[in-house]
Amino acid sequence: MKINTGEIYSRYNTSTLIFKYITTNLLTHSITRTFSLRILKRYLACRPAWLLKLIHGIYLGGQSLAEVDLAASRLAQDGVCCAIDYAAEGENNTKHFNLALKNTFQLIDMAARAENLPFVIIKPSAFGNIELYTRMTQRQPLNAEQQIQWRKIVSRYRRIFDRASSRNVNIMVDAEQSWFQPAASRLVLAMMPFYNRHRPLITLTLQCYLRDQMDFLHYCYQQACNYGFHLGLKVVRGAYLEEERRHGGYQPCFAEKWQTDSCYHETIDYIVQRLDRITPFFATHNEESIDRIINHPLLRHHAVWIGQLYGFGDHITYKLLYARLRVCKYLPYGPIHLALPYLLRRIEENAIATPTFKAENRLVKQELSRRFFRRSK
Ligand SMILES: Cc1cc2nc3c(=O)[nH]c(=O)nc-3n(C[C@H](O)[C@H](O)[C@H](O)COP(=O)(O)OP(=O)(O)OC[C@H]3O[C@@H](n4cnc5c(N)ncnc54)[C@H](O)[C@@H]3O)c2cc1C
Repeated sequence: MKINTGEIYSRYNTSTLIFKYITTNLLTHSITRTFSLRILKRYLACRPAWLLKLIHGIYLGGQSLAEVDLAASRLAQDGVCCAIDYAAEGENNTKHFNLALKNTFQLIDMAARAENLPFVIIKPSAFGNIELYTRMTQRQPLNAEQQIQWRKIVSRYRRIFDRASSRNVNIMVDAEQSWFQPAASRLVLAMMPFYNRHRPLITLTLQCYLRDQMDFLHYCYQQACNYGFHLGLKVVRGAYLEEERRHGGYQPCFAEKWQTDSCYHETIDYIVQRLDRITPFFATHNEESIDRIINHPLLRHHAVWIGQLYGFGDHITYKLLYARLRVCKYLPYGPIHLALPYLLRRIEENAIATPTFKAENRLVKQELSRRFFRRSK
C-alpha cells in the first residue's frame, strides 16, 4: 500500500518535522546516541523556550484542556480515537494529587461528551505517594499516618471509577516503575469485580519487559474467572528500562530485547485464546507485533484496540486506519514544566527503540523532500 506522507505528517509544521528528523537521526545512531541524549536532556532541563516549543509540537497535545480537545478533534477528522493523559509527573505531594484528581474528573466529563475519546488515562504516581506505594509493594507494615494516607489513595481511585462508571467512560491505568507499581496494580485488580462486572470499565497495564509479567497475566485471568469480571488489559513492552537498570539490586527486566519481544508475543497468544474474558489494548509501534496482531486468525473477528503514542509511529496509526482497525492515539497534555519528565522519557525512547524510529525517519525524510520539492517547483 502506498503511504501518503502528506496526510500522515500534516499536523507537523516543517520546522518541527526537521527537528524530529535531526534528533531521531542523532538518537538512533550508535556513535551519536549517548552524547546527543546527554546534551538534549541537559539543555532541556534549562527549559529554553524554542526547544520546548519544538518538543511540545511533536509529543504534547496541548498545555490546557481546551488545546488538547482541539488536537483530539483534529485526529478525529481522520478517524483516529484518543486516550487523553494528564502528563504532569514527578510532583509527589497532596496538592498535586488533588489537582490530578480534578483534571481527571474534567477529562472524564469531556470523554463522556465525545465519541472519539474511548479512554481516560491515569497514572498511579499522580494519585499517591511513591514511598507509600513502595511500602505496600514490599508488604511492609504501615504506621497510623501511613494508613490514613493509603485510605486516601484508595478513595481517589474509587472516586475516579465511580465518576467514570456514572458517565459510561473507560479508565486506563498506566504502569510505572516496578518498585511501586505492583501495589497500584493489586489495588486496581481488587476493584475490578465491582466495576468490571458488565464491561471492562478499568483497563490495567502489563509490561512485557518484566520477567514476572506472564505470571501476573495468568493471576489476573484467574481472578477474572473466579470473580466473574471482564479483564481490561493494555499490553506494552515497558518504558522505564534505563531507570529500572539504574535502580540497582534485583533486576526485574529481561536482559535482552528479544526476550521482551517474545514475552510480548507470548502475551498476545495467551490473550487471543481468552477473548471471552480479556479485552486487550495492544500498545506498540513495533511493526512485527502489529502484523502479528492484525494477521491473527482469532483476532480478525474481534474489535481489539491498537494504540500508539502521539508523535510516534504515525505511519503505523494510518496503516491500521486504512485496514479499518480500531486505533487509539495516546494524547498527553499538561503545563510544559510539569510534563518535562514525560517528554524526557519520550526522547530517551528514541534512543532505545532504534529500529522503529529509523524506519519512521525514512518516511519523515520522504515528507520533507516532498515539501521542499513542491515549494521549489
Ligand atoms: C499507547 C501506548 C501506551 C503506553 N503506555 C505505557 C505504560 O503505561 N507503561 C509503560 O511502561 N510503557 C507504556 N508505553 C510505552 C511502551 O512500554 C514502550 O516503551 C514503547 O511503546 C516502545 O516499545 P514498542 O512496543 O513500541 O516496540 P519496540 O520499539 O520494538 O521496543 C522497544 C522496547 O523494547 C524493550 N527493550 C529494548 N531494549 C531492551 C533490552 N536490551 N532488554 C529488554 N528489553 C528491551 C523496552 O521496553 C523498549 O521500550 C506505552 C506505549 C504506547 C504506544
